[in-house]
Amino acid sequence: MKSQYRVVVIGGGVVGASVLYHLAKMGWKDVVMLERRRLASGSSWHAAGGVHTLNADPNMAALQAYTIDLLPKIENESGQNVGFHMTGGLTLAGTPERWEWLQSNYRIFQSIGINDCELLTPEEAKKRCPIMSVDGVLGAMWADREGYIDTTGTVQAYATAAKKRGAEYYEEVKVDSLNQTSDGWIVKTEKGDIKCEHVVNAAGLWAKQVGRMAGVELPVSPLKHHYLITDSIPEVASSDFEMPMTVDLEGFTYMRQDQNGVLVGIYGSDDEHWAMDGAPWDYGEELFQEQLHRIENELMLGFKRYPAIENVGIKTWVNGAFTFSPDGNPLVGPVPGKKGYWSACAVMAGFLQGGGVGKTLAEWMIEGEPETDAWSMDVARYGKYAENKRYIRETTGQFYSRRFVMSYPNEQLPAGRQMKMAPAHDAMTQAGCRWGVSWDLEVPLYFAPYDDFEEKLTLKRSNANKIIAEECKAIREGLALLDITGFSRFEVKGQNAKVWLDQIFATKLPKPGRARLAVMLSFSGKLKGDLTLLNWGNGTYWIMGSYYLRAWHMRWFNEQMQDGVSIRDLGDEICGFALIGPNSRSVLQRVAEEDVSDMRFMDCKKLDIGLVRSSVARMSVTGEMGYEINCKMGDHIALRRILLEAGADQDICEVGFKAMLSTRIEKSFGIWSAEFTQDRTPAMTAMDRWIDWNKPDFIGKAASLAEQNGSGPEKIQVTLEIADGDADASGYEPIWSEAGDMIGFVTSGAYGHTVKKSLAMALIEPALASKGTNVIVHIVGVERRAKVIAPSPYDPDGMAMRN
Ligand SMILES: Cc1cc2nc3c(=O)[nH]c(=O)nc-3n(C[C@H](O)[C@H](O)[C@H](O)COP(=O)(O)OP(=O)(O)OC[C@H]3O[C@@H](n4cnc5c(N)ncnc54)[C@H](O)[C@@H]3O)c2cc1C
Repeated sequence: MKSQYRVVVIGGGVVGASVLYHLAKMGWKDVVMLERRRLASGSSWHAAGGVHTLNADPNMAALQAYTIDLLPKIENESGQNVGFHMTGGLTLAGTPERWEWLQSNYRIFQSIGINDCELLTPEEAKKRCPIMSVDGVLGAMWADREGYIDTTGTVQAYATAAKKRGAEYYEEVKVDSLNQTSDGWIVKTEKGDIKCEHVVNAAGLWAKQVGRMAGVELPVSPLKHHYLITDSIPEVASSDFEMPMTVDLEGFTYMRQDQNGVLVGIYGSDDEHWAMDGAPWDYGEELFQEQLHRIENELMLGFKRYPAIENVGIKTWVNGAFTFSPDGNPLVGPVPGKKGYWSACAVMAGFLQGGGVGKTLAEWMIEGEPETDAWSMDVARYGKYAENKRYIRETTGQFYSRRFVMSYPNEQLPAGRQMKMAPAHDAMTQAGCRWGVSWDLEVPLYFAPYDDFEEKLTLKRSNANKIIAEECKAIREGLALLDITGFSRFEVKGQNAKVWLDQIFATKLPKPGRARLAVMLSFSGKLKGDLTLLNWGNGTYWIMGSYYLRAWHMRWFNEQMQDGVSIRDLGDEICGFALIGPNSRSVLQRVAEEDVSDMRFMDCKKLDIGLVRSSVARMSVTGEMGYEINCKMGDHIALRRILLEAGADQDICEVGFKAMLSTRIEKSFGIWSAEFTQDRTPAMTAMDRWIDWNKPDFIGKAASLAEQNGSGPEKIQVTLEIADGDADASGYEPIWSEAGDMIGFVTSGAYGHTVKKSLAMALIEPALASKGTNVIVHIVGVERRAKVIAPSPYDPDGMAMRN
């Protein structure tokens, strides 16, 4: 072991070994992995080893598909058998909604390139898994690329393949502490100190402590999980093919063959955390005593699904721990505020996600950014609030206990809720507000007109749609009030503020007293932000954007920071309301201490609204005349009261974000995480119209100029009108030409209540992107006719917002 490396990877589980392998493969050879015991001494050794593509999050499904394809390759490279049994896999649906969901996912998989799936009847499924009873099964999805691997063999294979490519790893070397230096880290181990530029926390069950070694509180916790392995089952032993990996979602079990018996893993509603502060250092390869009381009901369902199990003994029980983040996805990437400290932990399914996690992290470290959109596993998707122990316990527990429970897009889950609320929250609740959550904050979804209104969970159009229609009407025809605490706000000041902003934004900076939509790019010319820049005219600028991206954007701003610039996240200080609709100007005038008639579209200024000192911008996400009125947290209640009173005779209507999202799609206004993601470019998304090509330089200029001068993107953004139906598109639904070729996918969808049409925005091949082209789209698995329409089906000339 040397005393200096470029990278030290802490932890020799499947994730650390995959990171090591990918770093070496991508050209960084001066890398070492340290393992306190033997390889795979954490949760990796006792995993069930199952691998499958199905994941409700399309980005995670793609990552899993990458990992599965990689496994035979690392076996070849290393010469170490990974024990891969590619049995194929079944996912069973036991309720009509689940069957709808599976059919929907089958189509969504197609749009992300997973084409080895098939929908089966219960009888067809039984033929592929004859030991299963299909009682209550309504249908199933088959996937070719599913099966199981040998866990320790796989870790060994990653590590050996890494070594063959020039990396090193050492067992029996425990990292005791970390010291940050001006140019990297000192890694203190039992066997001496190592100086390095980068440290990777791949410490699995010990990730919490290895985080704390660097002063980082990662939102991660281990939870306990059971599986059993049976003795030989005659039907399995005599079968001339292996039983497929079978996931019975309504039964809370997964099953695969294990020699001539089967392994059955059990998820249940009774979640149990273990060692929330990290596993004890002396924890080795022990297991916990099985706790049958926790899984009794699910076990009974498992026995019913696989009746043959009842006739044989149980050979082994495994009750082991593995780690979860609040949303169950990994925590990967550069940890904000800790240069050179990288996270590769909370990987709940290391064998099916570890390959993708290793690849993503290695690209990030070497190239500066991952090739594909890594948002869903980015460690910066959480903020400081997620350090809270109760938040971690509630959310990770909720994820575990709902692992196989169906989730609906209009469902609000209770864990970690009511953490942060805007001051007018209680008054808005009394007015009927139904709340969603963005990051740590409760955000208004819509206002129910009567107390006992109950929104039914559905994959289709919700019964709240009528309410949202009324709110949209108020926005378009009268006067609406929207709590905009759920926008992010950053204040930029200092002698070099202008120069810095000019560098990080591709857009021309707004003049004093003006606001402008501002595109931010990465060095490779991909999107980094669809933000709004406001120039208050006193040397202070604001950057406004999506609230849930606060830590993610702040990490980027800090990475690009220069002397003479200061940036502050105002998210905990400033909130506000948007006053929207054709009557907004006249009503604002009643309470403003200055004339607002000369405020043009995209003007911004400081204004006293009644007794509230405000920062007001005439802006519009809805495409209607509107003012975003920002105030201090302490003024939120007063501002709401002032505006409600002023607009009372105009029937002012409080609205939520659902109405905002419906109206914005009628304007073809894209939003982050839907139309805009970090693996898309300005030309794909039409964001290039906001780029100031005359600026001498900005981050991403060379790359986006090259794109501009190239042959054009493979897909471009369009708006679709979808034929009548009972569901709207939500995202990632595949789009087909009339000839039957897949030509793109939906980025977002909603019902447009003003134009009275189901609308979607989509990325499709340019040749089929012209207005009037007929296409086909699968929504909740059902084929629907659609056509490309001109952008902005409502008020295409933008007169309403500019009026
Ligand atoms: C019962 C059960 C069934 C499962 N089934 C599956 C499955 O079917 N499919 C699947 O994909 N996943 C499954 N998993 C999850 C899987 O085990 C984990 O996702 C995976 O093991 C995580 O790997 P890791 O490398 O992140 O962590 P770990 O395996 O915990 O590895 C971390 C390593 O870091 C080392 N380390 C920690 N701190 C230090 C330090 N300070 N210095 C040096 N070394 C250190 C540890 O000794 C350990 O070897 C299952 C888990 C359980 C418990």
